[in-house]
Amino acid sequence: MSQPVLVLIDPVTPTSAPSAERLRIVPADQPIVTAADLGVTRGDGIFEVIGAVRGQMQATEAHLTRLSRSARMLDMPEPDLAIVEEASRLALAEHEPVEQLWIKIIVTRGVEGSGHPTAWVYAFEGEDSSAAQRDGIAVVRLDRGYRSDVAATSPWLLAGAKTLSYAVNKAVGREAKRRGADDVIFTSSDGYVLEGPTSTVIARFGTTLVTPPPEDLGILPGTTQAALFEIAGELGYATEYRALRSAELEGADGLWLVSSGQQIRPVNTLDGLEINRDRELDDALLEKLLYRTH
Ligand code: PLP
Repeated sequence: MSQPVLVLIDPVTPTSAPSAERLRIVPADQPIVTAADLGVTRGDGIFEVIGAVRGQMQATEAHLTRLSRSARMLDMPEPDLAIVEEASRLALAEHEPVEQLWIKIIVTRGVEGSGHPTAWVYAFEGEDSSAAQRDGIAVVRLDRGYRSDVAATSPWLLAGAKTLSYAVNKAVGREAKRRGADDVIFTSSDGYVLEGPTSTVIARFGTTLVTPPPEDLGILPGTTQAALFEIAGELGYATEYRALRSAELEGADGLWLVSSGQQIRPVNTLDGLEINRDRELDDALLEKLLYRTH
């Protein structure tokens, strides 16, 4: 069955017009982008993916805030977050009820020369992550080729923006497969841990959970990582933002990749080296992330 897509007729100008005049629901198999749209021709635009479990959208405000941040980094007009949120909630409501949905928000720079963004939102059932969440994954480290200070030295490279240019993020997934692994942790050319291609890295050292500081390292500030740090406090764990040397991960007491779509996946092996797992903690974190209420 073809799921509906919500097209935002004007994604940037806040108005008091009723949403029926600002949102159009179209079938997903109907074309909504034209040939000269910069999102298609240049990958020039931004996106977000909000997870929804049992009809509950997760970390909505954090995703909307990050959409604005990405727009600013790309010198795009500020999105009207109220209409983006309304479209997201409608996309969820229009979908048949299922256990988990991914709500994707796309905002492109628009048709070349128009100066006006194109935007749409759709809800879909993402890949089933339950096996990876339970059984864990094999991860390899790959050099991203940027130094850890790239965000400060070269902001035009847009490190840490959630842009539509994800061909590299997909290519490293294929490289992981070639190396017999499931996913990747990017490292900087000077040897620091960055992030996964679609996830944030969290390592456990004793009773402290550590993640790299996003603003310093030019990586995406993860909404799931932020939620997990709140949960960690409830479970008696301390949390810390700290630059991690790649080699430090080899001695971690636990390692996870977290993201809105896949929630949390424990790492079993890192470049073939076994990583410790605490199944009780893995299960508690998954349960709390899956059924969070905001
Ligand atoms: N880092 C990158 C590069 C990502 O693409 C993503 C999500 O897709 C994340 C981190 C995790 O962010 P979140 O937990 O907000 O989904």
